[in-house]
Amino acid sequence: MSQLTIALTKGRILQETLPLLEAAGIKPLEDISKSRKLAFDTSIDNVRLLILRGSDVPTYVQFGAADLGVSGKDTLMEHGGDGLYSLVDLGIARCKLMTAAIKGMPVKQGRIKVATKYVNVARRFYAEKGRQADFIKLYGAMELAPIVGLADEIVDIVDTGNTLKANGLEARTEIASISSCLIANKASMKMKHALMQPLVDVIAEHVKADTQG
Ligand code: AMP
Repeated sequence: MSQLTIALTKGRILQETLPLLEAAGIKPLEDISKSRKLAFDTSIDNVRLLILRGSDVPTYVQFGAADLGVSGKDTLMEHGGDGLYSLVDLGIARCKLMTAAIKGMPVKQGRIKVATKYVNVARRFYAEKGRQADFIKLYGAMELAPIVGLADEIVDIVDTGNTLKANGLEARTEIASISSCLIANKASMKMKHALMQPLVDVIAEHVKADTQG
C-alpha cells in the first residue's frame, strides 16, 4: 500500500489541523506537542505526519517528500507555487501581511530600506507601488530593525498589532490577508489520487461546515 505523508508545523497550525485530520480518522499515535520527534505514525497504518519549520513545508511538498501539507499563504507567496496545488483554504491562523514603520514617522521619500523575512513578496509589492527599495533579509525580530536604524520599514505578519505597538511601530499598508491552506504535491495528486482525494474531501467538508456553522 502506498504511503501518505502530511507535513505540518508545531503551534497554531498543528492545533487547528489535528481536528481536521481526526475527522478523517487520522490521529497521531503519540502527543506531538510533548515529543521532540519529527515524524509520527498515525492511527492509519500508511499515513504519517512530519513536523517541520513553517517555511520548509512548501519545499517538502514541492519535491514530493510530503504529499500534503498545511502552510500559511505568506509562506506560499514567498516560496512560489512550483510543483504545488493549493487545495483548500482552511481559514485557520488568520492574520495580515503588512508593511510597518516607526509610529508617526512620515513616509520616507526616495530609496528606502525594508527588513523582512519575505524578501520575494516585499520586492514584488514595492515594485508594483513604484517605490524604490533595498531589502534586508531577517529571520525574526523584524520589529527591531526600524528602531535600531537597520531599516525604514518592515514587512511582517500582524495579528493583534500588539507586537508592533510594544516596539513603537505602526502598521501602514496591507499586502495580503493570510490564512493557512492545504497544499498538495502535483504528482502525488495524480499517482495517489485514490488515497488523497477522500481525505481532501473530508477536510474541505469539515472546513465548510465550520465556516457555515
Ligand atoms: P501580533 O502581536 O498579535 O500582531 O502578532 C504578531 C507576531 O506574531 C508576528 O511577528 C508573527 O511572527 C506572529 N504571528 C501572529 N499570527 C501569526 C500567524 N497566523 N502565522 C504566523 N505568525 C503569526
